[in-house]
Amino acid sequence: MTGERYEPDRVHGLSDAGKPLLVRYDLDALGRAVDKEVLAPRTGGFWRYREFLPVRRSENVVSLGEVVTPLIPLTRLADSLGLKGGQAIVKDEGRLPTGSFKARGLALAVAMAKELGLEHLAMPTNGNAGAAMAAYARRAGLRSTVFCPDDTPEINISEIELQGATVYRVNGLINDCGKIVGDGKEAAGWFDCSTLKEPYRIEGKKTMGLELAEQLGWELPDAIFYPTGGGTGLIGMWKVFDELEAIGWIGPKRPRMIAVQASGCAPIVKAYEAGEEHAALWADAHTLAAGIRVPVAVGDFLILRAVRDSGGFAIAVPDEEILAARDEVARTDGLLLCPEGAATLAAYKQALADGRVQRDERVVLYNCATGLKYPMPPVTRKLDRTGTIDYAAL
Ligand SMILES: *Cc1c(COP(=O)(O)O)cnc(C)c1O
Repeated sequence: MTGERYEPDRVHGLSDAGKPLLVRYDLDALGRAVDKEVLAPRTGGFWRYREFLPVRRSENVVSLGEVVTPLIPLTRLADSLGLKGGQAIVKDEGRLPTGSFKARGLALAVAMAKELGLEHLAMPTNGNAGAAMAAYARRAGLRSTVFCPDDTPEINISEIELQGATVYRVNGLINDCGKIVGDGKEAAGWFDCSTLKEPYRIEGKKTMGLELAEQLGWELPDAIFYPTGGGTGLIGMWKVFDELEAIGWIGPKRPRMIAVQASGCAPIVKAYEAGEEHAALWADAHTLAAGIRVPVAVGDFLILRAVRDSGGFAIAVPDEEILAARDEVARTDGLLLCPEGAATLAAYKQALADGRVQRDERVVLYNCATGLKYPMPPVTRKLDRTGTIDYAAL
């Protein structure tokens, strides 16, 4: 971090050094402007935290019916995991508009784009970010163009187009799509909304940390397992915990931030284990957890710093364990996770087994999207209503 300052109320991309810009607030003024009691009765999901957000004029707020996402303890699974007084809680972000936590970041990016007078937004996406940008941009009356790897789940490509964006399938990965967005800026006249290449998505994503703190009575958990692609959510939560401490709403206690990746695409884990500050591009990235198939992250050093400063770690899990975890929690607790969310459960189980997390700790697992957007195991069982039905055998 260079500490250089940039003016507010202007359009910004990356810093002159090519690094992400972070929004800073007058925390004294923020602390005076709002208190916990004022906040408590408000509605509007993450927009409840408007004093912590950069949007200045309320007419620029874009809303599709945001909700406070529930915390769901895995009560039945807790028995099979042998938790001793500890708790594994899922924060289910699949309840947000467009079915993923990308709604948080893109609502903010779009609202700020509107406030700053931008008209056309573009981004590379593995699916959910594009869907959220398309929906919020349409809602705000802005144009959007989206580039996805050609093997992005069909449902994402369809929802992006139907919600008003123009979407292209590209024969490459998300970083290849990102290059197209960057290269086309001048000629196409769009604004680059890539992860961390503008400063406001992270402000939306940080509301996950605010919401979690409020829901837990301003007492943070022992560990947070976060499915890490570009890392916006992890960086954002880490940032807002400091903002909350600065205004005196929480103490110095922090959760260990645990970055979860898939074994087939684990650049952050590799850099973490090697003690590096930056992560090298991961070659031949593959995993069915599309949301975390991110071979290179511009905020790599911010992710690694938050993980290390928190006393956390980065951990990779294979696709088989991701699917097994998804199936297990669905069958045991009736909760359908997306594969990226299931990766956090697989990682939690691995961390319990290797002793990096204890059975008496309270951990939060982020389920980042609705499980309904992903392929599920087929069911072939049939019943012939015209034959004799052996009811006792059903
Ligand atoms: C984007 C996404 C992620 C990764 O989130 P980051 O904050 O960018 O690391 C994980 N899971 C799903 C389903 C996603 O859409």
